[in-house]
Amino acid sequence: MAKSIQSVRGFGDILPEQTPVWQFVEARLRATLDGYGYEEIRLPLLEKTELFSRSIGEVTDIVEKEMYTFEDRNGDSLTLRPEGTAGCVRAGIQHGLLHNRQPRLWYAGSMFRHERPQKGRYRQFNQIGVEVFGLPGPDIDAEVILLAARMLRSVGLTDIRLELNTLGTAAARAAYKDALVAYLRGHEDRLDDDSRRRLETNPLRILDTKDAGTRAVLENAPALSDWIDADSREHFHALCAMLDTAGIAYTVNPQLVRGLDYYGRTVFEWVTDRLGAQGTVCAGGRYDGLVEQIGGRSTPAIGFALGIERLVALIEDGGLAPSPRGPDVYLVAAGDAARRQGLVIAEELRDALPGLRLVTHCGSGGFKSQFKRADRLGARFALVLGEEELAAGQVSLKELQSAGEQETLPRAELVAALRERLPKESEGHE
Ligand code: ATP
Ligand code: MG
Repeated sequence: MAKSIQSVRGFGDILPEQTPVWQFVEARLRATLDGYGYEEIRLPLLEKTELFSRSIGEVTDIVEKEMYTFEDRNGDSLTLRPEGTAGCVRAGIQHGLLHNRQPRLWYAGSMFRHERPQKGRYRQFNQIGVEVFGLPGPDIDAEVILLAARMLRSVGLTDIRLELNTLGTAAARAAYKDALVAYLRGHEDRLDDDSRRRLETNPLRILDTKDAGTRAVLENAPALSDWIDADSREHFHALCAMLDTAGIAYTVNPQLVRGLDYYGRTVFEWVTDRLGAQGTVCAGGRYDGLVEQIGGRSTPAIGFALGIERLVALIEDGGLAPSPRGPDVYLVAAGDAARRQGLVIAEELRDALPGLRLVTHCGSGGFKSQFKRADRLGARFALVLGEEELAAGQVSLKELQSAGEQETLPRAELVAALRERLPKESEGHE
């Protein structure tokens, strides 16, 4: 036998036993987005590298060390998207979606980052994200946060915290940056290497460090909150007041800066202690400068992205996953004629009962092994076709996983019998 080939590290399969949870999550999140009138946009997986270096920022973890970048056959530098916002803004500008409208968009799909794989951190992972353009807030900030909160509630998650902060305007951050750098220069010997390098390139990112020594230095550093401009402060207070009125619990975390350069004013994260260092489930913020930075007309914007793998892990960990449902009917047939007829009857039933989950037995096997298979799939009923019965226009129905009798009925009454016995969901009301 040839040596088998394994998947690429950090690129996981989602197996059939896991897909029901994924489908549950995706369906609930989509339905919630739909309820707010957000429209779906589908974006390519591959973009020009420049899009990400210009938007996310040259000196961020993502652009510095996490991107899958390669030259294609024409020598163009391309990158597998590490996140969805940049592509969404690019598409919005390219197709004129942002001007004179206030689109509220969402997207879902895989993102790619070359990180160290561990639980809750993969190299291909999935996000559902939201981006809203043309609205300066704070009302839309509040709506976007309420939407994310409802998305999390819709899958049963109630025990995660919302953290909130304001980063102020670019000018406020620039002034703060000078003060921070001046302070940190006085303690340069106690900083970790990355942070020392960032003093030159992107000092605000130092606030995000996980290094204990640097964290200790930061304790007495000037606080960004003291540098926030009056307008941003007012914006933030208005947002907080709206969230208070709506009864959304949050904590203001003045250390929250987010890992991407394009954020300003409102930033927020939903965090949990149940996933170790991978505790952020949903994160986002306002990015009023980004559209112009990518070559569009200045347009305010806000968005967030939710990590589906982490959401699924929390749901499984909390025992919130819906129990898998087997087929409604497993069709058991013996003999060539019954098998042939079986396929026809199965199609008739699918026509008559939309949403019916019917599995026909294929391949070999007598009644006994067919019943065993029906049991293993967790089927509710076995529909039994015997040669003689069929000739007499009859079929049999047996409720499985119960001691019920097998009942024989005229084929013409089969649809009515199933309709009566099956729950309403199996008629397309899911
Ligand atoms: P972290 O601090 O955990 O690296 P991040 O700030 O890089 O997260 P964002 O870029 O804000 O993450 O992405 C939004 C969400 O996408 C995260 O909150 C997380 O749920 C999810 N996410 C990010 N990176 C990964 C990954 N490598 N694997 C799985 N999920 C991820
Ligand atoms: Mg990251």
